[in-house]
Amino acid sequence: MEIILETDNLEKKYKDFKALNHANIHIEKGAIYGLIGKNGAGKTTLIRIICGLQEPTNGRFTIYGVDNNSNNITDVRKRMGAIIETPSIYGEMTAKDNLIEQYKLVGVPSLDGIDDLLKLVGLSNTGKKKAKNFSLGMKQRLGIAIALANNPDFLILDEPINGLDPQGIIEIRELILKLNKEKRITILISSHYLDELSKIATHYGFLDNGSIIKEISSEELMKKMERKLILKVTNEIAFVKYFEEHKISYEVIDDSTIYVYGKYNLSKFINELSKKNLIADEVHEQKESLENYYMNLIGGGSND
Ligand code: ADP
Repeated sequence: MEIILETDNLEKKYKDFKALNHANIHIEKGAIYGLIGKNGAGKTTLIRIICGLQEPTNGRFTIYGVDNNSNNITDVRKRMGAIIETPSIYGEMTAKDNLIEQYKLVGVPSLDGIDDLLKLVGLSNTGKKKAKNFSLGMKQRLGIAIALANNPDFLILDEPINGLDPQGIIEIRELILKLNKEKRITILISSHYLDELSKIATHYGFLDNGSIIKEISSEELMKKMERKLILKVTNEIAFVKYFEEHKISYEVIDDSTIYVYGKYNLSKFINELSKKNLIADEVHEQKESLENYYMNLIGGGSND
């Protein structure tokens, strides 16, 4: 699997304060990577460093395998598009004129693609309306169009749904999915709304106090959200043998703990096991919510 972005112990210090502290992220080609962390966790700092707007005080990173200290880093950055904090839009201009400006800025020779780009972000019908009169969601979509002007295959969006109304959030979500699925753009999206990110992300990086405390694919995360039975056992090998034979999805956690996934009727399940002399010391059910998982990960505190 090709890695688009990899950071290696990135650190950013402001005086004695570490806004980033050994931050390690890995983004695979084709991913929608949700960078999740509460306000102040270091998301924007990380993104600014990747985009070359700030230098790390320590650590390194690669984009498309090119080291940040290499002379070629400027070239690979041309394959990226980004919106950091607020999109850079000329309020007095129409959507189309904004894109014309951006095309000139990044040196796209033909303006032919502009109408398609406006269509892609759902702004075809904005005509003479000045961008300053757009809704926040429309501004955000224009910002994305601007970031797409150089036809990037890696797009970075810093908190793109902040402040949007529910309709605006849906439109951005659908646009992100379309860019990823149809245009095959790898996307890094930061947010402090885990619930919202969970509707689109294929991978997550949980950032807390400047460090990535967990990276997980959405598949693995969803598995964790599944209902599971937690078994405390003394004869673990015998249980594992039974689960293997009966194609039961399980995970060995430690010498005496096994998780069993799937929708089992608890008493029936225990009964079946006991027929084989498999008696657990303890069995209980657990269903974790996304929120819970996150809170446990960051050790409590506000998710805001
Ligand atoms: P996030 O995007 O996750 O909300 P930021 O990356 O903006 O977090 O900020 C991370 C931390 O670094 C915050 O505590 C913030 O106050 C601090 N910080 C950001 N920029 C500066 C700066 N220029 N000088 C000092 N501290 C900063």
